[in-house]
Amino acid sequence: MNTSITCRHRVAIVGGGFGGLFAAKRLARADVDVTLIDRTNHHLFQPLIYQVATGLLSAGDIAPTLREVLWNQRNTSVVLGEVVGIDLGSRRLTVQTLDHRSEIVYDSLIVATGASQSYFGHPEFAHHAPGMKTIDDALELRGRIFGAFEMAEREPDPSARERWLTFVVVGAGPTGVEVAGQLVELSRHSLRGNFRRIDPAQARIVLLDGSPTILGTFPDSLRQRGMRDLQDLGVEIHLGTVVKGVDEHGVETNSTNPRLRRIEAMTKIWAAGVEASPLGRVLSDAAAAELDRAGRVKVERDCTLPGHPEVFVIGDLMSLAELPGVAQVAIQSGRHAADTIRRRIAGDNTSRPFRYRDLGSMATISLFRALAAMGSVRVAGFAAWVLWLVVHVAALVGFRNRLSVLFKWTVAFLSGRRAERVVTTQQVFARHAMTAQAAATRPEATRV
Ligand SMILES: Cc1cc2nc3c(=O)[nH]c(=O)nc-3n(C[C@H](O)[C@H](O)[C@H](O)COP(=O)(O)OP(=O)(O)OC[C@H]3O[C@@H](n4cnc5c(N)ncnc54)[C@H](O)[C@@H]3O)c2cc1C
Repeated sequence: MNTSITCRHRVAIVGGGFGGLFAAKRLARADVDVTLIDRTNHHLFQPLIYQVATGLLSAGDIAPTLREVLWNQRNTSVVLGEVVGIDLGSRRLTVQTLDHRSEIVYDSLIVATGASQSYFGHPEFAHHAPGMKTIDDALELRGRIFGAFEMAEREPDPSARERWLTFVVVGAGPTGVEVAGQLVELSRHSLRGNFRRIDPAQARIVLLDGSPTILGTFPDSLRQRGMRDLQDLGVEIHLGTVVKGVDEHGVETNSTNPRLRRIEAMTKIWAAGVEASPLGRVLSDAAAAELDRAGRVKVERDCTLPGHPEVFVIGDLMSLAELPGVAQVAIQSGRHAADTIRRRIAGDNTSRPFRYRDLGSMATISLFRALAAMGSVRVAGFAAWVLWLVVHVAALVGFRNRLSVLFKWTVAFLSGRRAERVVTTQQVFARHAMTAQAAATRPEATRV
């Protein structure tokens, strides 16, 4: 695509996540042409991915298409494609859409490509322990989770059945805690009475973390409360336990306890560690910018790339003042970048530092139980759960999505059932992984 015939200021935004989308919206009434490029066609509300994986919500509930979100923003075009190259000298992006390659010229660039799962130098773990970063991850996990109960139902050998009914979650940050809580609710409540040969409530949910605590970023009182709540629900928590190996049948850990050194489990979920998008390395090579340990780009105080005031790096890809990789940092840094571009167009070239306003942290444990910390206020239990619910519904992008999520939650709360348990033949990887795992477990002829 060649946009060089336009005479307006051209802003290219790479990534339609929290940072990129909120930057684009902030430019709605600016005298600029905006091009938003994403390799997916949707904006993903990552905090609720685990609810898609566990059958509470559908993919569409948390992932409205970028075209629909921005349909009436006349100065903005959406491009589906992966940015594979950035030429800072000629101010051009190279975009790959399947086998089609094109170029986009910019005057200002906002790079908001986020982060992916880190397996701490063991990318091979990903095959057996998917992470939770994309809709594909969520649907694959859904296939594995519901598939595990199906396989357990068909399994005559008690130890193999136990292996199908053991779920290991690696990483006890908010995501790991939330998914562990959901697995308990799914097995103890939603699947009650659905099977004839197994009792899903017998499922063993194991939460592992190498650090000495769960929810490392939360205040101590809430961490303790979270531990107690999870243990009350029946989640087995093992802290200071580092995963050393992952294979189709289980995980190996550094524990000296023989029961934990190897945990037999067909379903493993990786919720530990993040690694910045590879575009961080591209920018660092092009501009000699420093990267931090997670591969995030060290930016100036106004979120610009050192030596390139026309390039902003925001959100999870940005390394600035040890700000955490959370949605509010992405949203606020996206708005800051957009505001800076607007001011420059109005003739004000002064550089203003990005100031982050911390709105607090939240995590749900289960139905009616959550934790919330806002400034010096700490709330746990039902009040925190109501707060969590209100904040998440309000933060979802799009009125229809809010309505749909609220409706599905209400039905799930009242009935205890989940509406989104469909696993389709399109979820090929999950199906193949399950087939391979089952074949490796026992010969076909002995299965009932
Ligand atoms: C499971 C999970 C739960 C979370 N829960 C919370 C929570 O409860 N509260 C909270 O505050 N934060 C939470 N976070 C963190 C929060 O979602 C991130 O901090 C936030 O999404 C970062 O926004 P971003 O715009 O930087 O990146 P993202 O939202 O990750 O968006 C990046 C976008 O860039 C696109 N992209 C990547 N590479 C390319 C490329 N080369 N070309 C084109 N497009 C590209 C991607 O498709 C994606 O759309 C959670 C994250 C996860 C994974």
